[in-house]
Amino acid sequence: MPAPIRAARGVRDVLPAERAAWSLVERAAHGAARRFGYQLIETPIIEPLELVERGVGEDTDVIAKEIYFVQPRQGSEQRLVLRPEATAGMVRAYFQNGLNQAPPPARLYTIGAMFRHDRPQAGRYREFHQLDVEAIGEASAALDAEVIELAAAWLRALGLEDWTLEVNSIGDGACRPAYLELLKAYYRPLRDQLGPDCQRRLETNPLRLLDCKEPQCQPLRERAPRIADHLCPECARAFVEVRSLLEAAGIPYRLNPYLVRGLDYYTRTVFEFQHRLLGGAQNSLAGGGRYDGLSEVIGYRPTPATGFAAGIERVVLTLQELGRLPAAEPAAELAVLADGPDLAAPVAEVARLARPAVRTLTDASPRSLGAKMRAAGRAGYRWVAILDAAEAERRVVRLRDMDSGQQRELRWEELPSLLGAEPSPAGVAG
Ligand code: AMP
Repeated sequence: MPAPIRAARGVRDVLPAERAAWSLVERAAHGAARRFGYQLIETPIIEPLELVERGVGEDTDVIAKEIYFVQPRQGSEQRLVLRPEATAGMVRAYFQNGLNQAPPPARLYTIGAMFRHDRPQAGRYREFHQLDVEAIGEASAALDAEVIELAAAWLRALGLEDWTLEVNSIGDGACRPAYLELLKAYYRPLRDQLGPDCQRRLETNPLRLLDCKEPQCQPLRERAPRIADHLCPECARAFVEVRSLLEAAGIPYRLNPYLVRGLDYYTRTVFEFQHRLLGGAQNSLAGGGRYDGLSEVIGYRPTPATGFAAGIERVVLTLQELGRLPAAEPAAELAVLADGPDLAAPVAEVARLARPAVRTLTDASPRSLGAKMRAAGRAGYRWVAILDAAEAERRVVRLRDMDSGQQRELRWEELPSLLGAEPSPAGVAG
């Protein structure tokens, strides 16, 4: 026998018990997005390498180390990759499908799988899922505040209150280049004290020096010039506006001068939601900001945009840490059990009659009725309907209420109205 095949490293199965929590998180996301006027969009998981490469910037970690290539067996004319994030694909879809013809902004969101070949650890996976929210086509700082408010509304709807929100501005094409020169000038004499990654970033992506987690690099940033002191008037004004809108919305935040984003296309507002229960380097629930420079680098008209991405796994993990996961619900409310052999057809017919009213499954297996009843008890069904050959002949069942143990005879046709009339627990759809 060949060795049992296991899942790839860094990916995970979401089993039914946990999927109920995902559904809760997703439903809250759909609800929050829709309440803010955002519309659901689906973009492909596979995108051209160039989109991802130019979209995230070739010097960032994601491109340097973490991209999954998709290689068809038969040669392909295009180099394809699994998306590591959704924003570039969203912006591509916005232009390619003419959404830019409608009055701006386009308010879009999606929920789906992303792929990064990173070192797996708790809360960090190679396949993970994001809620991705984007407002494309308008430069207004009000939209930055809006997507932050949407994220906060979503987390609050899930009962998550004690996150921290950090915000910063990383300037734009007008003020950032000069700031980066200041930053490099500050760090160059300290080069030997930096870790190898930061030595490399010093020339390629100096902003990333500020959010390096290495103990040897961190203290050095204390004296580094802060971008907030070097913003151009437009960026400074936008930053003030975002902050006052957050205050008006009752959303607490902290200024973090070291908060930057790894991706090159971000401008002005950047933000991150964190939760202490996630712990360590993986404490980020959601991150985002304005990315006015993205559309141009992927070949479209310069178009301002803002948005965020949040980790579904991280939100579920936080709910779990708080003991707020919904109880796994039974697979069905009613089980129809055969008491004897050769009853598959009547069992199926009874189930068919009951399904419009309640979630119903069947057991026409040759196991004993006792074994079926024990299984039904463990599974937590609310009712079982039992029938033997004579009852099938008379088109009746024994309906048993599993809580009270009460049992009574019922005609098949009476099942839907009787069961449907009972208030059924509002189940979490899978
Ligand atoms: P990013 O796209 O890197 O800005 O990440 C946005 C959010 O996605 C983070 O705040 C996390 O919640 C989540 N996330 C990012 N990378 C991973 C990963 N490898 N595994 C699980 N969640 C992730």
